[in-house]
Order: sequence, then C-alpha cells, then structure tokens
Amino acid sequence: MNKKLRFNSAAIHGGQKIDPAYGAVMPPIYQTSTYSQTSPGVHKGFEYSRTHNPTREALENSIASIENAKYGLAFGSGLAAIDAIIKLLKPGDEVISTNDLYGGSYRLFTKIFENFGIKFHFVGMGNFDFLSKHVNNKTKLFWVETPTNPMMNVIDIKKISKLAKEYKILLAVDNTFASPYLQQPLNLGADIVMHSATKYLAGHSDVILGTIALNDKVLAEKLYFIQNASGAVCGPMDSFLTLRGIKTLHLRMQRHSENAKKVAEFLESNSKIKTVFWPGLENHPSHKIAKKQMNDFGGMISFIPKGSDFSSSVQIMKKLKIFTIAESLGGVESLVGHPASMTHASIPKEEREKSGVVDSLIRLSVGLEDYRDLIEDLSQAID
Ligand SMILES: *Cc1c(COP(=O)(O)O)cnc(C)c1O
Repeated sequence: MNKKLRFNSAAIHGGQKIDPAYGAVMPPIYQTSTYSQTSPGVHKGFEYSRTHNPTREALENSIASIENAKYGLAFGSGLAAIDAIIKLLKPGDEVISTNDLYGGSYRLFTKIFENFGIKFHFVGMGNFDFLSKHVNNKTKLFWVETPTNPMMNVIDIKKISKLAKEYKILLAVDNTFASPYLQQPLNLGADIVMHSATKYLAGHSDVILGTIALNDKVLAEKLYFIQNASGAVCGPMDSFLTLRGIKTLHLRMQRHSENAKKVAEFLESNSKIKTVFWPGLENHPSHKIAKKQMNDFGGMISFIPKGSDFSSSVQIMKKLKIFTIAESLGGVESLVGHPASMTHASIPKEEREKSGVVDSLIRLSVGLEDYRDLIEDLSQAID
C-alpha cells in the first residue's frame, strides 16, 4: 500500500501485506527459530529469528506506519527498547531526562547505565533552565516522557526538539502514556519515539513488549544492530497480540479519553478531593500545551484526596470494586495504582516528592467500562 493512509486506516493496514503463503489476512504467527536455506546463505530474507521474524516484522512495519516513521523495531519489553536506545551512547556521554519519569526507566539509568560511565541528569522540563545548568559538550541525548508519569505534565516536544537540533543532541520521546493516536513525536521533531507497547498499543493487559520508531537511516541501522547483537527481541506470539491490539487503538484511545474526562470532572467536583491531575482539565498546569500538542487527553488520571496520607489513600484503593489494584496501565480494564509504593518505589522518597509524587497520590488508568459504573465505584470508595 503506497498511498499515505490516515491514522485510523494506518492502525489497521499500515505497513501490512497479505501473507504470501496462503493469503491469510492476519500475519501468521511464525513460531520458528530458524529458516531453511536452499544452499548455504541462500534464503528468503530470514535466517534466524533473533535477527528477523515475519510476525515481528509485520508489527515493526505497523508501528513505523502509525508513528509516521520509516523504521520500526520491536523488543521483549519497553525497558528492552529503552536499553537499546541508551546503548547508542558511550562512557562519558551525558543524558538529560525528565524528572518524574517511569520508575523502571529511572532504575535502568541509575542502577545499570551509570555503572557503565553514562551520566544522567533528572530535571523538570516545564521550562528550559536545565539548558544552562546541565548541557555541555558531553550531552548526547534528551530523554523526554510526556505526559509524565504520574503527574501528567506535558512537555513541549516541538520546543525541545528545536533546542536539541541547535545543540546537536538526540531527542528521544517515551510516548507510552499518549500513544501515537494522541501524539506523534516524530512529526514534532523528535529523533526517536519509544513505547511500552505493553500498555495502550497492545491494550489488553496480556503481553509485555516494547517498540521504537524513527526516520534516520544511520540511527536505525545502529538500533537494528543492537537489537540483534543484544538480543532482547519479542516472540512471534507477543508480536501478533500487539499487532492485533493496534488495529483497535484509535477506537480504544477515543473511549479512554472520553471516560477519563467524565471521571476527572467527577473527581474535580467532589468535595473530598484535593487535587486532580489530568491534562484535559483547564486548571492543569500543562493544559495549554496539551491542547496544542495532543489530539485528546488520554486515560491516565492522578488525584490526591483531601487530608489523606499513605494509609487513608490505600484504604480508598482497597474499597474500589471495579478498579483493580495493579501496576501497569492502558488496558481495557480500569486499574488503580499507588505510585509511591508501586511504580515509583524504586525512586528515593526525597527525589519522588520533589516532582510531586506524595504518599497520598492515587493513579487511575481509566478503562473502557461504562463511565457511570466507574464514577459510582469511585464515589462509594471516597465516601
Ligand atoms: C511501563 C512503562 C515502561 C516500561 O515498559 P515495560 O514494557 O514494562 O518494560 C516505560 N515507560 C513507561 C512510561 C511505562 O509506563
């Protein structure tokens, strides 16, 4: 398919071709480690499944298509994808990263890559004070997560990409919270976009997978090399499940956003709630930029109950019946999490609270249930 497809069509057809063997409409699950060669070195483009696999390739083409990229890569997890990106760097290089980022990314950066001589600075990217403080000739990468987890701060990708280009620094965006339906970082000037496809892309809480999409050929070749050399690839079954998920991404994101709007408005109007963080609310500090940068505001909400502490917030969570207490997000079912003791437990309390992740903060991944049931559930738990 050569014609440039609109997003909703790309989600279903982008980068896909009908299976050449039997005409299967969905790419078959090529559950094979190796491929027969008619003569040594003579094959159909597939030699060994760490290097290439047709099901994974179908997914990689799909992710490239929906991120409006030339190249797509899929990995065994979101963190494996991030790991591959950081491996583009060398000892002595420096990275400037968003401060309220996914706890696992923070752990990977500080506990693994700092041991290999890469230096990370964690900064608020709401303004550009960090430039004069931290950018120097060793700075090689800006790592941006937007909206951030769990405060839902939105970072202006276009602005930061201009600065990155000016200073010749790579810009990578973790687009997990938005999904390409809501926000396409490459179109805004980013060099690399990464996803934990475990979340919205796969969308059904049944797979762990990560993706990268980009346009630069040299960079893509380096990443394919790392993917094969380090070997953190995803299997054909997980590739298939993610590809199936992507085909309904546009519909799901629309409903996630609609439901989140109802839930955020309910929480905001509830007298027992102190603060609600959802970029769609006009009083959210990032509302303006979110409105400009995103097509809608997504399904992630955080909130702080009035006069609450660690244990009373945990009480509210335990009273919820439809929202399941669980890590992760982006699936069809609504989940509730406690960042301080779950996703962000690996970030020191002091560091955590600097970015607003207090002990009473509760995070919701608003699913696709009837919003009235979700609101009733929250209402009884808060009361
Ligand atoms: C979950 C998540 C990751 C890590 O992805 P895994 O698939 O769990 O390895 C990275 N970034 C963000 C924003 C996430 O939510």
